[in-house]
Amino acid sequence: MTIALNSPVAPNIAQLTKYLEQVNESGHYTNFGPLHHELTRRLEEYLGVKNLLLISNGTLALQVAYKVLGITSAITTPFSFVATTSSLLWQGVECQFCDIDRSTYNLSPAKVKERLFNNSNVNGIVATHVYGNPCDVEEFANLASKHDVKVVYDAAHAFGIKVGEQSILNFGDASILSFHATKVFHTVEGGAIVFKRTEDYEKAKQLINFAICNGEITDVGINAKLNEYQCAVGLTILDDMDNIVTHRAELFSLYQDNLAGLVGFPQWHSLANTNGAYLPICLNSEDELASVAAELSKNGIQYRPYFKPSLDSVFPQVKHGNLEVSRDISSRVLCLPLHFKLTRVDVLKVTSTVKKGLLCHAQ
Ligand SMILES: *Cc1c(COP(=O)(O)O)cnc(C)c1O
Repeated sequence: MTIALNSPVAPNIAQLTKYLEQVNESGHYTNFGPLHHELTRRLEEYLGVKNLLLISNGTLALQVAYKVLGITSAITTPFSFVATTSSLLWQGVECQFCDIDRSTYNLSPAKVKERLFNNSNVNGIVATHVYGNPCDVEEFANLASKHDVKVVYDAAHAFGIKVGEQSILNFGDASILSFHATKVFHTVEGGAIVFKRTEDYEKAKQLINFAICNGEITDVGINAKLNEYQCAVGLTILDDMDNIVTHRAELFSLYQDNLAGLVGFPQWHSLANTNGAYLPICLNSEDELASVAAELSKNGIQYRPYFKPSLDSVFPQVKHGNLEVSRDISSRVLCLPLHFKLTRVDVLKVTSTVKKGLLCHAQ
């Protein structure tokens, strides 16, 4: 029996059908229909945010956010999913990488600060809450006000994450979510932008519908709307969200308890909750990783070196300084299975297999 790395949440068909029947009744299949309205309202309530705009996927959400905020030159992280950087390049934004923090694996504000002093044309910071672990949002807010730059958070992993009582999505000028099938919450494909300012939200809402406003074309727009069928999937899954997150977060801590002291974990923000989006472990060396990976494969357990490689090796055209931490962590990190269908027994099997791999390497 294989243990899958990930397994999308399957929407309850009976409930999904009820929503789809509503679509047929309304005759409104896309373009901000009734289910779009309902999902927006319910997500804003669930997440504790305002100005949430649904988008057809997380990558376009990033691109639309840069466009609306006027970001033309950005500092970003090489330790993220490829879309964080490729969205900038596709959008024609000049960009540079800064290194990550060795304990959190998130973009390092100290490194960004050094670069900002030497680059007066930079007007944006694009940082990822890696694995859902919040960035140092206070420090980025200080840098942003001091240097007059916009901050966009790639919060694709951070559904439902809070710092204290505050949603992580309420920091920065905009945060984006991905609702891809592999994420904690999904609409098959989909995403959202949460804007700090209502004007930005209003502008983005026009832009993603060809920039049509009251029948007039007001700008160069795009089509990035989320349709009613996908909103139906979202509404169905949202009904079960507390169960999903509780289950994932429980497995996340079971893993951490079982592997404590044996492997490294990113240091979690002290005031933040967890959503069990990913289970990254950091091994002591590439050799140790190879030994653990071989043992996992032998036992039919899927894993993924995530994020590997450090994105500077994928995009040599992006300028950067020293990225030794990102390169080092990328070469030693591995994500283990974690999803809604995974059981506690599965987790114990995975952790004992990891331990076997560690032993093989030690011998
Ligand atoms: C999934 C993901 C994206 C892209 O989202 P899509 O909805 O698949 O376009 C962007 N950034 C990060 C960090 C992601 O994990």
